[in-house]
Amino acid sequence: MKTNDCIIIDDLTAFANHGVLPEEKTMGQKFLISLKLYMDIYPAAKNDDISKSVDYAEVCAFITEFTKKNRCKLIEAAAVSIADELLIRYERISAVEITLKKPWAPIGLPVDQVAVCAKRSRHRAYIGIGSNLGDKKAYLEGAVKAIDSDRRCTVRRVSDFIVTKPVGPVKQDDFLNGCIEVDTLYSPHELLDLLHTVENDAGRKRLIHWGPRTLDLDILLYDSVMLHDDTLTIPHPEMRKRGFVLEPLSEIAPFVKDPVTGECVIALYERLKNNGTT
Ligand code: ADP
Ligand code: MG
Repeated sequence: MKTNDCIIIDDLTAFANHGVLPEEKTMGQKFLISLKLYMDIYPAAKNDDISKSVDYAEVCAFITEFTKKNRCKLIEAAAVSIADELLIRYERISAVEITLKKPWAPIGLPVDQVAVCAKRSRHRAYIGIGSNLGDKKAYLEGAVKAIDSDRRCTVRRVSDFIVTKPVGPVKQDDFLNGCIEVDTLYSPHELLDLLHTVENDAGRKRLIHWGPRTLDLDILLYDSVMLHDDTLTIPHPEMRKRGFVLEPLSEIAPFVKDPVTGECVIALYERLKNNGTT
């Protein structure tokens, strides 16, 4: 997924109405946009075939139109929205580096230009999905659909759903569990917010901790990020102990590494099985 290959576009001129001042909003001004579009260029190079690349003429035309229509107060917002739109529209692009220059910035002092530079990339996350209330299969399928229909997420793989016994002290019905692989533009916390929305939309009530639920969505892995704060721990801290997570996860991501132990998912699952705890 990570590549150093890129297509470079330098100083595309666009006329737009970004700005905080009323004159900037009404009269508009010139902006210069430079981009590095990271993608594997080998498939296009090997076949000398534009359909396996990203057409830079089309990209420039799109940005020119988009910049005209999409008005932002800040060049920070304008730059990030262009980068995100490109990642949403072009699946081949894995990351975008953008520099947005404002040569006529009205700051009352002699300056050639002001600019912002941003890098946005596609991230790969693995999400555990579970349900043990109502139509469990429908809840899991609904969750997959809801996540995939978010513009900033694409569901790449879905594991089989397995029936598992509940863990913990609460007596409750069996679970249906699975895992999905998702490409996303969201940060870990933005992704958690989306998962909470999808859980709430499925009528999830947080009545008893570890109690029955229509839908439980947990972030298991997110790139090789290790993160711990009040609301989020990645990798999911219970992941290595749970057969109902590792079994479906090893189906779709056997050789993906847990950044904490350095071990791949299949090795974690084999160890758990050998310990006889699953
Ligand atoms: P559990 O999944 O442990 O049964 P909940 O689904 O009720 O419990 O989650 C409780 C809280 O756990 C969430 O509100 C969230 O802030 C926090 N949390 C911490 N790490 C994660 C993670 N990796 N994925 C999902 N939620 C997490
Ligand atoms: Mg949860």
